[in-house]
Amino acid sequence: CSSDLDPGCDRGRNRARYRGRFAPSPTGALHLGSLLTATASYLDARAAGGEWLLRMEDLDRPREMPGAADAILRSLTAHGLHWDGEVHYQSRRSALYDQALAQLTAQGRSYDCGCSRREVAEASQHGHGHGDDNGDGEQVYPGTCRDGMAPGKTARARRLRLQGEVIRFTDRVFGLQQQSPAQQVGDFVLHRADGIHAYQLAVVVDDAAQGISDVVRGADLLRSTARQIVLGQLLGLPLLRYAHLPLLRNAAGEKLSKQTLDRKSTRLNSSHVKRS
Ligand code: GLU
Repeated sequence: CSSDLDPGCDRGRNRARYRGRFAPSPTGALHLGSLLTATASYLDARAAGGEWLLRMEDLDRPREMPGAADAILRSLTAHGLHWDGEVHYQSRRSALYDQALAQLTAQGRSYDCGCSRREVAEASQHGHGHGDDNGDGEQVYPGTCRDGMAPGKTARARRLRLQGEVIRFTDRVFGLQQQSPAQQVGDFVLHRADGIHAYQLAVVVDDAAQGISDVVRGADLLRSTARQIVLGQLLGLPLLRYAHLPLLRNAAGEKLSKQTLDRKSTRLNSSHVKRS
């Protein structure tokens, strides 16, 4: 293989074989929603006679809760969810993300952005973009620095230069999907202003480097999928199969998270499992 990103690296591994993964972020202990995702992903892999890998998505160090990564591993083991091979830590893989970023830059598909969050919100509101958000609370970047930063600006983040790609894929749970990242979020961030590689880039690089064939995860990430497919296409990586699971909600209809789980009042029954 010429590099870990080389799709040719997969040849020896037999792409037809199922390889799934669970990729928690160690921002807190495993909550019931994540446990559901982990169990579904594990069972899907085992039912297919495949492997199930574990990846700790610990890039966002400021949001990490000390001890959470180990607590997650203990919880998975306690629930009989045994992973194959070594746990893979994203915090140790920056060189690989830099390599992908360099590849995108060489293709003319990434650029420096000097905008602060406030400037993105303001520019968007003043009619340069598609409105202040896309209806899902996500900011749509209006492309301010696409043709170069204004004089006096310094580079903060690095963004992907989209070219109006419209992505179609069939989710195993939600069926045929059509998404346009340009309309959903605009040119999105690959490398953040705080020096951290963005989730969207790291997840694509790692899924390929780990030879993942199948992603089973929560429906809150359904809308990220086209962004990841675009990146995969630009980096010449194999297309994955996706299954997004309806989110587990509490009696108040709230998505289960570290916060909702902390409340002792959280009660569940089957009628609270809804499609998001
Ligand atoms: N690390 C992400 C999370 O905990 C999941 C990423 C993925 O499955 O693609 O929400």
